Amino acid sequence: MSGDFEFYKNEADEISKCKADALTSIKQKRFDTIATHGTYNLAEAMRNNGSIIEPVYMSTAQVFRDSNELEAALSYQIPSWSYSRINNPSIYYLESTLALLEGYQCNLETSCCVTASGMSAIVTVVDALLADNIDANFISSSQVYGGSFQQFSVRQKQKSHNVRWVYPSAPIEEWEAQIDGNTRFIYIETPTNPSLALCDISALAALAHQYGIPLVVDSTLATPALLRPFAFGADIVIHSLSKTITASGVSIGGAIISKKDITANFLTREETADFATYLKLLPNRDNGACLSPLQAFLTLSELRTIRTRINHLSQTTEKVVGFLELHANVEKVYYPGSTQHEQHDLAKSLFKLVDAPNINRYGHLVSFTIKGGLNETKQILSSFNLIFRATDLGRIKSVATIPAISTHQQQGDKGRDLAGIPNNLIRLCAGAEHPQDIIDDLEQALNVV
Ligand SMILES: *Cc1c(COP(=O)(O)O)cnc(C)c1O
Repeated sequence: MSGDFEFYKNEADEISKCKADALTSIKQKRFDTIATHGTYNLAEAMRNNGSIIEPVYMSTAQVFRDSNELEAALSYQIPSWSYSRINNPSIYYLESTLALLEGYQCNLETSCCVTASGMSAIVTVVDALLADNIDANFISSSQVYGGSFQQFSVRQKQKSHNVRWVYPSAPIEEWEAQIDGNTRFIYIETPTNPSLALCDISALAALAHQYGIPLVVDSTLATPALLRPFAFGADIVIHSLSKTITASGVSIGGAIISKKDITANFLTREETADFATYLKLLPNRDNGACLSPLQAFLTLSELRTIRTRINHLSQTTEKVVGFLELHANVEKVYYPGSTQHEQHDLAKSLFKLVDAPNINRYGHLVSFTIKGGLNETKQILSSFNLIFRATDLGRIKSVATIPAISTHQQQGDKGRDLAGIPNNLIRLCAGAEHPQDIIDDLEQALNVV
């Protein structure tokens, strides 16, 4: 049971070929099939005692047959998982599936690195793109997740990296005016949380590439079932796996998916060729923000039904939006699927239910402002009986919050102005309850003021 380097390399080539075959054959299937099976095919099941479902490898480390195999594995000469901070078979099943779903019908090769949380995915990408230059800057949509806002304006600032904010729907010239020789990337979220504004991904990707820099898209709210930013030219896609992808709310996790040969002329060829794998094998190995195999398994289990789920949740949300738009105590509703949304045409071109090209779906996040101030808004939020008050979203249970006093409280009045978050705004993420029960709860709460 031992061999020389050559033996292990040949054996590894064989296993790699099996894995590559599994990828090639699943890649030809439709979205739901990929989400359901991922890269865990019959051959893979047979290597795992015939288990129908991907096993959870809780083991910290892998045993090696002799010194040669150990040496080949630890120098990355043969594929191995070695130690669960670096890699793990359960992590592979999730990463390979996410890479396929994000790259679906984009005619691209993609790879994925999962991380301990959405924030660690963001930091891993941003740090790697800014590493070469102490005075580096980057451009970000001024409407980003509260944690991203703090990361960019506080943590990156501590490293002398400057963020330049641009309003998401600003004309392309405004984005371009912020670019200089030290600009390392453009960062957007689409749609934004909590204001549901959109960025023109194609136009921003073309702009970024003109300057040799990548476009990074946080696509958490859309999920690959509604939007694949690679199809519009993005280089790197980030997800918080803690939200709609794992809607049951049992896991915190993040993912970075990159296409091959990202545009980033300030990085080395080794870094740009397969950016997500580079992050996985080097910076993320050293920083240690790995995902637990159990969390990977929980996320993978929910990922299988993502398309059906987002379709259902979006339809419920459309009904809720219809109700809110007609209620006398509601000032304004923010939902990209509403014909009243300023960027509804752009929304229609971006968000389509995958494998159903004629069906637009817009996700389950909606925000609305109340006629009145913070006091009335707090009174309404306090009156929900069914909808949970929580700083959470993407849940299978309806959750709501007032961003100004919760998720976006730390960024202050100025930061909230910049992000367009008024005090009287309620963010609601509709769950899988019967739509009428959600509407009834909203109605009785709205009527208390
Ligand atoms: C929640 C969220 C994040 C952060 O993810 P965590 O898993 O909580 O670290 C990033 N971006 C968006 C859009 C989010 O909603």
